[in-house]
Amino acid sequence: MHSTYSDGTKPVKDIVKIARQLDLDFLLLTDHNTMQAKFDGLEGWYDNVLLGVGCELNDAQDRNHYLSFDYDEEIDSEMSKVDYVCKVRDMGGFGIIAHPDENRQHIAKYPPFPWTLWESECYQGIEIWNQMSEWMEGLTNQNKYWRVLHPRRSITTPKEETLTRWDEINMKRKVTGIGGVDAHEHIHKILGLIPFRVFRYKVSFKTIRTHVITPNPLTGKQSQYKKDLDTVYEAIKAARCFISNYYFGDANTFRFTAVSDNDQADMGDRIVNRSQIRLLVVNPGTADTRLICNGRQVQRKTGKEIEFAVKDAGVYRVETHVDNQPWILSNHIRIENES
Ligand SMILES: [Zn+2]
Repeated sequence: MHSTYSDGTKPVKDIVKIARQLDLDFLLLTDHNTMQAKFDGLEGWYDNVLLGVGCELNDAQDRNHYLSFDYDEEIDSEMSKVDYVCKVRDMGGFGIIAHPDENRQHIAKYPPFPWTLWESECYQGIEIWNQMSEWMEGLTNQNKYWRVLHPRRSITTPKEETLTRWDEINMKRKVTGIGGVDAHEHIHKILGLIPFRVFRYKVSFKTIRTHVITPNPLTGKQSQYKKDLDTVYEAIKAARCFISNYYFGDANTFRFTAVSDNDQADMGDRIVNRSQIRLLVVNPGTADTRLICNGRQVQRKTGKEIEFAVKDAGVYRVETHVDNQPWILSNHIRIENES
């Protein structure tokens, strides 16, 4: 999300207040090409909300938007030819490719910003679902007023090509999938006069969410906010996380794990297949759950607690659907053969 530090329309403290009212646990700010909010000391706990500050870098052509976190020096990506994807990693940080396959064409003022640097291997994650991109890509002259009035109902599914790409990359190495709202809260003037707010933070925060699974609860103490941020960042880097569309309900209790006779694995982990692996899904409620292996749907069951027995090696993830729309998307568990 973005604040008044770049092209958002609310200051950080107001955004955090909204997050507090909505009971979010953490927020990651990614203003364009600046981490000034961090240098201004805004990272930390605000009652029950933890704020982390990264930034969204882009190149001189305003392409290759990169959500980067956990380093302490500004990178001037716009002006220089520096390979900021590797630089972030070399500085000890990590990064996530933003809206990689963006293809919106409807509003000249907002051209698409796709990713073109696929040869780089320095990134750790891909934003597989971006609220703003999906909203704008689906826009037509016929539906634009409906979409302004129903922003949450306009969000239906991540892009197929992004999911395919993400699965394929994971067959080679672990790359975390996250979901982002890319909230800015634009102000449009009706008839050039009356200000009207679209993509309000309050509404965006009730759509796509990324949930992290941490080994221990966060301390919640301001004196330890760096440790808590580290815990969140470690979970994201490890792919111990999943994505949900809050429109269909709170997905906090979702779990996806793998068990063998003598081992168990969480999302992001690998597990060795000695005879058979059981993949266990706990849905927040009874739902249609699809098991995807190496990018292909291989099994499908409906229920709250579901078990899939699998024999083949591969990268496995699940999607839980409501009304044939994704509600929850897990990260991958990697099953390897003993040899
Ligand atoms: Zn962007």
